[in-house]
Formats: sequence, C-alpha cells, structure tokens
Amino acid sequence: MKEKLLSLKEEAVKLLEDANTVEELDAIRVKYLGKKGELTKILKDMGRLSKEEKPAVGKVANEVREFLTDTISSEKERIYNSMMKEKIEKETIDVTLPGKNTKVGKKHPISRMIDEVSEIFIGMGFSIAEGPEVETVENNFDALNSPQDHPSRDMSDTFYFSEDVLLRTQTSPVQIRAMKEAVKNDGLPLKILVPGRCFRADTPDATHSPMFHQIELLVVGKDITMTEFKGTMNTFVEKLFGKDTKTKFRPHNFPFTEPSAEVDVTCFKCGGEGCPVCKGEGWIEILGSGMVHPNVLRNCGIDPDEYSGFAAGMGVERLAMLKYEIDDIRLLFENDIRFLDQF
Ligand SMILES: [Zn+2]
Repeated sequence: MKEKLLSLKEEAVKLLEDANTVEELDAIRVKYLGKKGELTKILKDMGRLSKEEKPAVGKVANEVREFLTDTISSEKERIYNSMMKEKIEKETIDVTLPGKNTKVGKKHPISRMIDEVSEIFIGMGFSIAEGPEVETVENNFDALNSPQDHPSRDMSDTFYFSEDVLLRTQTSPVQIRAMKEAVKNDGLPLKILVPGRCFRADTPDATHSPMFHQIELLVVGKDITMTEFKGTMNTFVEKLFGKDTKTKFRPHNFPFTEPSAEVDVTCFKCGGEGCPVCKGEGWIEILGSGMVHPNVLRNCGIDPDEYSGFAAGMGVERLAMLKYEIDDIRLLFENDIRFLDQF
C-alpha cells in the first residue's frame, strides 16, 4: 500500500508539471482528492490494514495528501499571478492614442431660443412661470379682454374640447393665473416670463404650424409706465441681437393691452440696409406688446388706479427661424438629425 501511495504521488507530480491552467489543476484535484478520487479510495481501504501497518501507511498517506493539496493551491496561485501579470501588461494605457469620440446630443433650436431669452430676462430679475396647455375659455379669452366676436375665438381657428375648454392659443392665460395668484398671496409686484406650447387650427405650411411656442412676459407693479416698458424691450433686444440693435414701436391693437405696439428691430443680418432676411426692409418684427389693459387687471382683482404693467409676447419659432435663417417652420418639427445637427 505504501508503494501504491508513492507511485500515485509520482504520477500526480508528473501531471502537475504539465498542468498550465486552473482547469487542469482542478481536474487533477478531483482525480486524486475528490470524493471518488484515487487517494481517497486508498484512504478508505486503510481500514483493512493491520494495527501495526496502519500508523506508517497513514503517515505516508497524509503526507501525500498534504503534498497534493499544497502543490495544487500554490500552482493555482502561480498561474493566477502570471495571468494577472499578462493582463496588466496587455492593458497598459498608451496615452499617445487619440481618444474615442462620444456622440453628444444637441439642444433643439427651439429649446436653445427659449433658454437664451429666459437667461436674458432672468438676468433682469424675472422668474419663470408655467401653466397648463389645456385651458378654460375664461383664462384664454374672457379674462384677457378678448371681445366675443374676436376671430381667434372661432371654432375653426382654435381646438376646443367643449364650449368652455380648449388647447390654449397663447401663453397669455398664464398671466391671468399669475395675477390672480399674486392677489391671493400678496405677491405684487410681479415680473414673470412664460415660455410654452400653444395651439391653433392652422394648416401647416412654411410659416404656420398648428403647434408652436411662445414666450410671454408680464410686469405688474406701482408706477410702471411706457418708460419701463420701452427700456426693458430695448435692453432685451440689445442682449439678444447685439448692442447696436435699434427698436421701433409701431402702434397696434391687441385686446389685452392699451396702448399696444408691435416691436421691430433693425435687421441683425444687414444692420438695417436691407437683405433677404429682412426682405429688403432693414427692420424685422419680433414681438407684440403693450401696457396691460385696465380691464385685464380688473378681471384679476387688481385695481388699475393703483397698479399698472406691461406685457409682451413673441413667437419662438419665428425668432429661431430669423436667427438661424431657417426658411420652413416644418423643419423644426420633423426631427431630422441631419437638419438638427447643424445647430
Ligand atoms: Zn436685413
């Protein structure tokens, strides 16, 4: 039995010398030390030995088992270390290699325009206000002093859910919500900027879309006059289009402001000399505005003898199309990456 053990050891040593992987070592461990392994079998058979033989054979058997256990585990460690070394050598970082380009998405021109305008007004102390896109006729028309026969109220011009509920046609109902809220919470004076989505029953063409964006602003306080209104507008256009930009206030008629004005700016492309962007006129219309109509203030519970204010609204698509020289509004909503990638 002793000889058997020693030849088993010799055989195992040879196998261990040839083993190069952890898997091969595991196979050797199972072959000799496993439940049905060869050494295990011999150890089981030791019961048949005489009392005199047992200690000597047992000693050898234990030695062989220890030898195999130790060698297998130290060999495993050696293989593992050399694998790690090889891996580390292979993975050495070459700092001179050019980096991999990650494709980063871009902001949509509409979002960029909203961000740009918002930043200018936030810098002037305005805060952003938002409201729902599904509005009441009351907030969208009535409280804004819109006459009952105003064409935008027409069923064919606006998306109605019912007689009293519609998809808002402008961001102006947020003015009503903000003023009522301010009256309730002692929140006057008010300086808000309202970016948002609006809807009109337009057939899409190069300049019309049934869904579009507006940015609206509203200031209500004591002693707010045309001076504050014009000063704010001038500061805004200078920041948006450049320091030399001039403004022109053209009288207009909106139901919610009195007096009302459309604001033109000198063309940022040609500086006023005339070019395709301004259609040869040198001026570009960018927003509608005016002093808040006393009826609108009254409708929100604000005394027009004590408070006054001004409001202005601009089309975000129009601004973006001017600024980026886009000639078809539909391009903004087709989500064609080749188009959007240019901004
Ligand atoms: Zn021009």
